[in-house]
Amino acid sequence: MEDLEIFLSSEQPTACPKCGNRTEIIDDFDSSQEHKCLSEECNFQFILEFDSEDGI
Ligand SMILES: [Zn+2]
Repeated sequence: MEDLEIFLSSEQPTACPKCGNRTEIIDDFDSSQEHKCLSEECNFQFILEFDSEDGI
């Protein structure tokens, strides 16, 4: 995995942490997703981690 910033997922739909635009999922992992901002000016990529309070 690349060295990307990690953000925790919230209840609202995922938006770019920098510009607030919508994002697309590039990669899907067990407890996280790699997202990319759909704004071509921003193009920010980040990791979205799911808050698993259920425990395992
Ligand atoms: Zn953005």
